[in-house]
Amino acid sequence: MAKVVPLFSGSSGNCWYVSNGGSGILIDAGRSAKQITCALEDNGISIGSIEAIFVTHEHSDHVKGLRVFANRHKLPVYMSQGTMNALYAGNYADEKTRCFVIGNEGVDLSSMHVDRFPISHDCAEGIGFRVDMGGKAYALATDLGYISDEVEKALTGCDVVTIESNHDVNMLRMGPYPYILKRRIMSDKGHLSNEACSGLLPELVRRGTKRFILAHLSRENNMPEIAYRESLNELNANNMELMSDFTLNVAPDAPDGTAVIF
Ligand SMILES: [Zn+2]
Ligand SMILES: [Zn+2]
Repeated sequence: MAKVVPLFSGSSGNCWYVSNGGSGILIDAGRSAKQITCALEDNGISIGSIEAIFVTHEHSDHVKGLRVFANRHKLPVYMSQGTMNALYAGNYADEKTRCFVIGNEGVDLSSMHVDRFPISHDCAEGIGFRVDMGGKAYALATDLGYISDEVEKALTGCDVVTIESNHDVNMLRMGPYPYILKRRIMSDKGHLSNEACSGLLPELVRRGTKRFILAHLSRENNMPEIAYRESLNELNANNMELMSDFTLNVAPDAPDGTAVIF
């Protein structure tokens, strides 16, 4: 039985647990090591079950607790070469951190195979991950300005997909952010809007995806109900029905017991 647990999601920190029954991995470690440890305990996840940490990119909401947590538990950490350089430069990793580059051939762990795919974002070399385990597949794509062909291909055929639904375009336009920041978020190297996210979902359902977890919602420029409603409406408009054709969750900012089993 495979499981995805959104521990933290959003601009205040991101961390996901993915498991194939026995062992599992973390994707990102964007809260303090203490907060991550508590979140794992609260969700009944043993730290001993974690085989490795995979890092999408070097922004602090993805790596804040990485060095302390990975060093304390001597866990290997996989990332792109560009992210690795940025982590050392930013002191998010040190000589004790067991950093490895995940190449195009992916990484084999005891119970899963993890592949990377590129994302377009204002960082050194951001990547998303696709996890194949026992005939089931999961992919996570957050912090991306647009959905490239490579992203779409990586997500295709996954049983469960975590995808960014960062902002409502109108809320962002009308909101308090300075113009330059608004432009950055809306750019090809920014974040995915509710609209862009929802537009991809019907095609993914047609190609076999059954479960979606919307992630990395902006606190200022989005609301869980709005993100949820936009994706639900788009799927319904394509004659796809909640529960019979798909399930839809919004990842909480902090753990609330949400777990997707598949
Ligand atoms: Zn982020
Ligand atoms: Zn980012």
